[in-house]
Amino acid sequence: MAGRRIERCRLTSFSALKTVAPPLEDLEGRTVRGVERRGKFVCIGTDGPWLVAHLALGGWIRWYEALPSTAIKPGRSPIALRVGLDDGAGFDITEMGTEKRLALWVVATPEEVGPLAELGVDPLSPGFTVDRLADLLHATSSTVKTALTTQSLIAGVGNAYSDEALHRARLSPYKNSGRLDRDEVIRLHDAVTGVLSEAVERASGVDLADLKGDKKRAMAVHGRTGQACPTCGDTIREVSFATRSLQYCPTCQTGGKPLADRRLSRLLK
Ligand SMILES: [Zn+2]
Repeated sequence: MAGRRIERCRLTSFSALKTVAPPLEDLEGRTVRGVERRGKFVCIGTDGPWLVAHLALGGWIRWYEALPSTAIKPGRSPIALRVGLDDGAGFDITEMGTEKRLALWVVATPEEVGPLAELGVDPLSPGFTVDRLADLLHATSSTVKTALTTQSLIAGVGNAYSDEALHRARLSPYKNSGRLDRDEVIRLHDAVTGVLSEAVERASGVDLADLKGDKKRAMAVHGRTGQACPTCGDTIREVSFATRSLQYCPTCQTGGKPLADRRLSRLLK
């Protein structure tokens, strides 16, 4: 997109746009300077304002070499925003499902987006060193699972890839992050960068229709409760919370002991 001019922006999901000034129309006529990812935010920089998007769970950006010219009916299409470029290309930002959580901002700088300004270190950036990870982990006494998924510490690691990284590092998700020794931090650093860079590589060029299935198939433990661990063959277990669950392998990660399911043990007391 860099070097192309934004010709028009058509917003059809009005609740997705979280800012009022500058107006969306301020993007029209601007030349795109580049696109960056920060944590889970996509930031499109122009010679004027930035367009920042958080796709949440159901959002997609769909690129077109030739943008369709069909009219979009607000409220009846998954398209939230359509952006046309000066050479006929463009993209739609869409959101499927009823849980509307897609968010868009038009801002002078990405730092004006509150949750983006608070993001911690990006695990695929050169700043994510073993020492930096050790400092971040040792500054908290939460579980290593919680520390890994706290966006203000490490940006962009969610529930699935934290399960995968902890399994690869052979660490219990409940381990106190302040008590990880040097060897454990090194293993976790290798695991986080390995799991994420492999995921990026695997996803590149994959057809939209295959992307979700491919992501699922590549997981060793996440979403695989009851199946065999690909490393040791033990049965993968899970701990459930109110809205989410984590998966782990007892043999690889917890010395063979199943973790207490806090919800379940409360019921049994
Ligand atoms: Zn295992």
